[in-house]
Amino acid sequence: MSDAILTLNAGSSSIKFALYAPQGEPSELARGQVESIGPAARLIFQTAGEGKTQRELGAADHALGLKAILAETQPALGGQTIIGVGHRIAHGGIDFVAPLKISGAVLDKLRMLEPLAPLHQPHNIRAIEAAIEVFPDAPQVAAFDTAFHRGHPWVNDTFALPSKYYDKGVRRYGFHGLSYDFITSALRNCAPAVADGRVVIAHLGNGASMCAVREGQSVASTMGFSALDGLPMGTRCGQIDPGVVLYLLDQEGMTPAQVTQLLYRESGLKGLSGWTNDMRALEASSNPDAQKALDYFVFRIRRELGAMCAVLGGIDALVFCGGIGENSATIRARVCSGMEWIGIEIDNAGNNENALQISSGPTQVLVIPTDEERVIARAVMGHMNPPLSP
Ligand code: ADP
Repeated sequence: MSDAILTLNAGSSSIKFALYAPQGEPSELARGQVESIGPAARLIFQTAGEGKTQRELGAADHALGLKAILAETQPALGGQTIIGVGHRIAHGGIDFVAPLKISGAVLDKLRMLEPLAPLHQPHNIRAIEAAIEVFPDAPQVAAFDTAFHRGHPWVNDTFALPSKYYDKGVRRYGFHGLSYDFITSALRNCAPAVADGRVVIAHLGNGASMCAVREGQSVASTMGFSALDGLPMGTRCGQIDPGVVLYLLDQEGMTPAQVTQLLYRESGLKGLSGWTNDMRALEASSNPDAQKALDYFVFRIRRELGAMCAVLGGIDALVFCGGIGENSATIRARVCSGMEWIGIEIDNAGNNENALQISSGPTQVLVIPTDEERVIARAVMGHMNPPLSP
């Protein structure tokens, strides 16, 4: 029986997972997810080199979902001993700036951070509890989406509120840090000339954000206190005047729960199109509202790109990643159109093929498939005793 590392990324209704062989750079054995946790849960997984398997699980909570992941995937792989489990954790607060082994004290601190990420952190914690139950002897390691940004300069870490709120943790944390971590490390191999330069990374998926990186360090991010700020997303509004929230509460008589539902689940591409958050469907549609949603999405990315160039004092490379960034030649071309003033020119042939290098101008434009699970697996390897180094 061989060893494997399990990575878990738990949301409210899904647990994404991956299994890695921990020799050298972790090599992926399988990945998949339990979807629709609740009365009609479903497990989907894919082992390396083979097709997708899908099975209805019936009623399953996070712990049952996790047990199903193991029961189904391990026989398919020929049996594995899980020697470590890595967890994607939405919020590391002020203190957690790097991955760490989860002790009882760490778990208590993570629970205290729940109010800062109420839609994500409780599910992450439930996955940790379930994993401890299933693998009591394996080290559990937390990898934080906020950690990559914790070196932000103060001006990008604060809001213009009385400082007591900053002291209480009301700060611009930034998210998608595991993805940005992966991309900055990938640049060292695939584009070493710019890896230590001024890089803007656009992580465009259902969740979307951008990050300005200098010498491999995050200096600005479009996401702030919550994962709502910045770019419009699949169903999240992105940047919004806080006066709108006050209006919704005071004048429209909405409850905080209703405003939360509106801003997180009914806005963004879905809200603007009045239809769907699925970029593929929007791109294929001739519906004017679908096109307006795309116009706003592109407009905001271009605007943030300009802001990040100002923060960095220029740009050496723009990287696209995430489901949209990696696959939509149309969105990439629209974002880059007319950007010669910052050295961006697109090579259409490369762009249409989702090639690694899609630029013909002095600023490199790259498409790099992100891999957050791999970053978590690396973190677990670094916390084994003794550490397993790639
Ligand atoms: P998440 O943030 O949930 O991980 P993903 O990174 O998987 O999301 O991105 C999902 C988005 O990517 C969806 O809007 C989907 O329509 C879009 N997408 C995936 N493939 C394509 C494609 N070929 N062309 C355009 N958009 C795509």
